[in-house]
Amino acid sequence: MASRRARVGAVVAALTAGLLVIGGGAWAIAAAATRNGDAVAARSADTTHHERLSSPSTAPVTTPVIPSPTPTPTPTFDSGAYSIDDPTSIWVVVNKSRALNPVDAVPPDLVQPPVPNINGQPVRKAVSDALAALFAAAKSEAGLDLTLQSGYRSYDTQVSVYDEDVAANGQAYADTDTARPGHSEHQTGLAVDISAASGRCSLDACFGQTPEGQWLAANAWRFGFLLRYPQDKVAVTGFTYEPWHFRYVGEPLSTELHETGVTTLEEYFGVPGGESYPG
Ligand code: ZN
Repeated sequence: MASRRARVGAVVAALTAGLLVIGGGAWAIAAAATRNGDAVAARSADTTHHERLSSPSTAPVTTPVIPSPTPTPTPTFDSGAYSIDDPTSIWVVVNKSRALNPVDAVPPDLVQPPVPNINGQPVRKAVSDALAALFAAAKSEAGLDLTLQSGYRSYDTQVSVYDEDVAANGQAYADTDTARPGHSEHQTGLAVDISAASGRCSLDACFGQTPEGQWLAANAWRFGFLLRYPQDKVAVTGFTYEPWHFRYVGEPLSTELHETGVTTLEEYFGVPGGESYPG
């Protein structure tokens, strides 16, 4: 075993030789092997980035600046900032496994949004403001004219819509495309169905192929909206692909979802969804 003095001597020899190996941000002074008076620094296994700091014997011995790893600060997003259970929360998660509580909850601050509105349904104030900005951007950035198809639907309205769907198509089918009362995002006042002003592919899967549908899919997140029922997440959300249905969650969360690539609220919050109703 080498004495402390011997080890110090080896390090000094390596420093004097100036053969410091830097690899991938981590550096190490290799133990110097002395042969014929030459100090040889063993090379790091990492050969991606080696740099010779100084030439041997001419440069003064200087204390090398140790590059300490500077972690890029990752802004931590507080995924618990708002309730996902409170029916008045902008993050409330409603699906077939999660009914609103109370089941006939009525949202606060419903207003008429200042955009073309086919059914005249109100939305919550924050949604109204975001819709106005979204529609204006679609026009100014892409020359697209949008119209609001649906906004808030009350519990009683959802009863009617669901019952009509069941009567026309049977319950099994109805459960794939119309939420049961208390399970509809439209009852929160935070969900909107958007169409092209032309009416082309309105409330149809082909809306996703229209310029309006494609622009919305790419840009709605900038205004606090989430394309709520993506084509590849039917088993997660429990609803068929709806390229026209957007859910307002606010810009912080929509941006977080966009940046992390998570496309459903169920996956982001780790809560159940699924295609069948419990019980
Ligand atoms: Zn909808």
